[in-house]
Parts: sequence; structure tokens; C-alpha cells
Amino acid sequence: MQLDVLGDWQRTHSCGDLRAADVDREVTLTGWVHRRRDLGQLIFLDVRDRSGIAQVVFNKEQNSAAHARAEEVRGEYVVAVRGRVVARQKANPELESGEIEVIASEMRLLNTAKTPPFMIEDDVSASEETRLRYRYLDLRRSRPKQNIALRHRVLLEIRRTLDELGFYEIETPMLTRSTPEGARDYLVPSRVHRGHFYALPQSPQIFKQILMISGMERYFQIARCFRDEDLRADRQPEFTQLDFEMSFPTQDAIFSVIERVMERACAAAGIAVQGPFPRLEYREAMRRFGSDKPDLRFGMELHEVTSHFAVAQAKLGFAGSVQALAAPGGAALSRKQLDELTERAKSLGASGVYTIKLAADGAFASSLEKTLGADAVRAVAAAAGAKPGDLVVAVAAKEQIPGSDAAALVAGQLRLHLAEKLALVPSDQWKFTWITGFALFEWSETEKCVVSAQHPFTGIVDEDLPKLEDPSDAVRLSMRSKGYDLVLNGVELGSGSIRIHQQEVQQRLFRALGLSDETQRARFGFFLDALTYGTPPHGGIALGLDRVVALLAGEKSIREVIAFPKTASAQDLMADAPSSVSPDQLNELGIAVKE
Ligand code: ASP
Repeated sequence: MQLDVLGDWQRTHSCGDLRAADVDREVTLTGWVHRRRDLGQLIFLDVRDRSGIAQVVFNKEQNSAAHARAEEVRGEYVVAVRGRVVARQKANPELESGEIEVIASEMRLLNTAKTPPFMIEDDVSASEETRLRYRYLDLRRSRPKQNIALRHRVLLEIRRTLDELGFYEIETPMLTRSTPEGARDYLVPSRVHRGHFYALPQSPQIFKQILMISGMERYFQIARCFRDEDLRADRQPEFTQLDFEMSFPTQDAIFSVIERVMERACAAAGIAVQGPFPRLEYREAMRRFGSDKPDLRFGMELHEVTSHFAVAQAKLGFAGSVQALAAPGGAALSRKQLDELTERAKSLGASGVYTIKLAADGAFASSLEKTLGADAVRAVAAAAGAKPGDLVVAVAAKEQIPGSDAAALVAGQLRLHLAEKLALVPSDQWKFTWITGFALFEWSETEKCVVSAQHPFTGIVDEDLPKLEDPSDAVRLSMRSKGYDLVLNGVELGSGSIRIHQQEVQQRLFRALGLSDETQRARFGFFLDALTYGTPPHGGIALGLDRVVALLAGEKSIREVIAFPKTASAQDLMADAPSSVSPDQLNELGIAVKE
């Protein structure tokens, strides 16, 4: 097929932007043939560019040369078209440019295209695997394209806001050494220093703290982080954080920066939110919602009802505390649905699951009545705040680890499940919450010792400092950190803290984690040294940007807002990575691959 050159043709308008006000304009459009309808005398081409679609009409009688050219094109061919905008006799409400069409006078056919493996449409039936393999075609669809555009606007707004607040955007190295964020490192072998490896950063944590020591005062970065974690749904081996750090901060100052940033990021998505965001202590979040990332878009709070069960504990055969919640309208759930709920609770670790239905007339129906008696059943329902038509669910669970709130955690999961099932989650609400008051350490079952609940640079509540040297695990587990999380609609967006800024405290913390002085020096020597040269108090946070954009875009998966995401098994299907490398390359690096 004979192809044309673009020559000196310059696009005058974007397809999707044409409106009735453009009628009578001579325009030049460029783009892809989205669809072609051939009616003999008339050929209609839907021409698509980044902005959307415009209908172009080729009339054989009026312009046979252009019409002949249009006969040759197929879907996804690349064209440039010149013509005049006219009002359509009947507007097409499906298209933004549906009020008009373009009567073509000339067309240049710039490239052909193979038939794509799937239609470039919003309702795509292709598997995600196929979409990712042909991501360049997938990105031609309007939804992924809109997601990428939204991501751009959100990032731009974040940059603008932080710039106005006096933050410098500073890049930190990709080739560096291990950062202790708790995941496995991606390693990069050094050719020059045989047997030595760089680690890709799990976060810019140490560098951003060093930037505070350097006197940069306010730093941010849209930072790529790398964590080699086991397969988990909706994680990416490389992901993007909004990372920031500031010197001489109060917690309020840090929160207010992020509140400004989120207000404007949300506004870029057309969503109005207003700080200050409410704050919840970790303990209170667990008690009321059974979660450290509570979804505050609906109620259904938990209520401890253990005492009402005391008389029947032996008969019912459960252990631990009992948490109850009232699900509005839940009395309508069927027997089968209740059985499913019980199964779910058991699989989450419940040792007992009990339900009470409150009929519209206020009558109770519960298998508990026989064992507990009508009064106790009524008392449980009242404690949960149940109203006619509600379902009360009470769960018991035994704490494997003391203080782990086992029953509350299960009830918290059921709360989310029931809210979803009963359609109680408003999709147009944006509930941000700060969670504070975290423990400094947590118990690791695998390592059988206390480990950092966040990372080992997290500040320690001043009164708790003396407990660092306490030999009792229980005492150390009671220590409070200066950490905080930001949560949106039940999703943890990220965490941060006021940091340890005194070298002596940092060393004591490392010791409490069982790191010998030699290990400390080997892993963090440069950082421990830097801390001794006048380190200002500092603190910050990092937010998962992929997650933020996914929420704002209304997407469930972060893959939908990343231009070139990896699969759940960490593969890039388009570029076919990871891949094997040549023996020469391995040789040069001094590496042999074990079978
Ligand atoms: N570096 C931490 C993280 O990636 C965040 C922070 O403490 O600022 O989770």
C-alpha cells in the first residue's frame, strides 16, 4: 500500500475537543482510525487521538480522491485528515464531539496497522495477560488513558503544592545499599567490584534523613521503590511513593503539609476534601473498628459483649473475648448467607460466631436464646445498638498473641464484609484519618523476638525511652512510637514518623533489636556517623502514590494506573522481563547461576 508523508501538515485541533462552536472551521486532525463504516457513497471514519474521537465523512460525489483513499484504511491505521467542521443533523450523545462532524477534503494515510488482538474499546474482553502483553494497544483505550492523565495531574499538583510550601525535589540514588523496610532487596551485581552488590532502594529512608542532616530542611521526591516480596495481590515489585521529610517539625506541621497535598491532589480528580483530617489512636481504632485502617464511611462499630456471655462460656465452648456489631438491614440475610458468614468468621480465626435477627416488629430470633436466655440476648443486641431489621453478629476468638485483639480483628473483617454485602458503603465519600499511638515494637513469631513495628528509625515517645534496656519483652512491647499512618476509606496510604535524631538513642534502639555494635557499624556505620554531626529533629512520611491514584480513579487494582505494570508474579509481559542473560555477561560479573 502506498503511504503518504505527513509533510508540513500540522494538527490544528484535537479530535475530542471539537464542539458546535467550531462549525465552519477548516481543521487538520491526526490520529488512529477507531472505526470505519462504509455506506458506499459515504465513508465514515471515527478518528481517535489522545483527547477522544471525531467523526470524519468522505463523500464520493464531493471528493472522490479523498473517498478513494478512505476506502483503503482499516482499524488502527494512522491518518491525517483535512476538512471542514459541520453541525450534525442528529447529535451523537455518546461522543464528546457528537454535535459535529468533519467533511473531509483530503486525507494522508501515514501508516498501516495489523489487526489488534483485542478491540480498542472500554469493555475489553481480553484477559489481563493479553492486555499487558500488548500494553501499547491497551493504553489506546480511553479508560487507561484517562487514568494516566489523572496520574499526571495528581503528580503535578503534588509537586506544585510542595514547591509552594518550600520543599525541594531531590533525587536519591537507585544503586545503593539495603534499606531496612522489612522486605527482600533487589540486588544489582557490580562489575567493577566483583562479588559486591548494590541494592535497589526499598525506600529513600536513610538518604532523606541524611538530607535533613545536610540542612536541606524540606525534601520531597516522587520516588521509585523496590521490594522483592512474595506474591501478594495488588503489590508491585517497583512502586512509587510520595516521599517527604522536614526538619524541626511538630507532628501537626507534618500532618498539615500532607493535608494540603491531599486536598489538592483530590481536587485534581474533581473530589473535594478538606483538612484537618480526624485522628484516631491505634487502640481506639482497634476497639471501635477492629482495624488499624478503619473505613469510616459507615458505622457498624464494634462493642465488647464478653460479660453477657460469661454464664454460658463453658456451654458454648468458646474462648477469648466477644465482640458484637449491628448490621443495618441485615435481618433480611438468608440462612445460607448467615452460614457463609459463619464460615468466613471461622476461617478468619473465630472460635464462636453467634447471630441475632431483629424483625421489623422488634421480635428477636437467635439460637443463643436457649443457652443465654432472652434477657441476655436482648442485652447483647442493645449493647450493639441494634434496631429493628438489623442483624447482630457476635464473634469470639482466642488471642494467640496477648493483646492482639483477635475477636476485634475478626469482627472488623466481618464489618467490612457485611457493609459490602448490604451495600452500606457510599462510593462518593472520601474519609481520611490519621492513626497515631502505635507500638514501637511487635512480636515476630518467625524470629521469636521483638522487631520494629515500622522501621528502626521511628522515634520513641520520650517517657518510654528508659524501657529500651528493659530485659522483659512485655515491657518493650508496651513502648510507644512517634509513628503515624494515613488512611483513606479503609486503605492505608502510607506511614511515617518523627525520627530518632540522636545517635546514642539510635544505637540503643539497634541494640534492643539485637544488633551487635559490629553489625550496626557494618550496616549503618555511615548513618550513625552522620547522626553525630549536628542532626536536627526531623520527621516525614511516604505515601503509596499508585494506591492514591487508583482510589481517586475508582480502580480496584494499582496496575490500572501504572503505565507499564508487572504481573502478580513480577513479570513484565511486554518486555519479557526478567530474562536470562548471555554467559558473557555473567562471566563479566563473575556470576554463575545455580540450577
Ligand atoms: N520509609 C518509610 C516507608 O517506606 C516511610 C517513612 O517512614 O517515611 O514506609
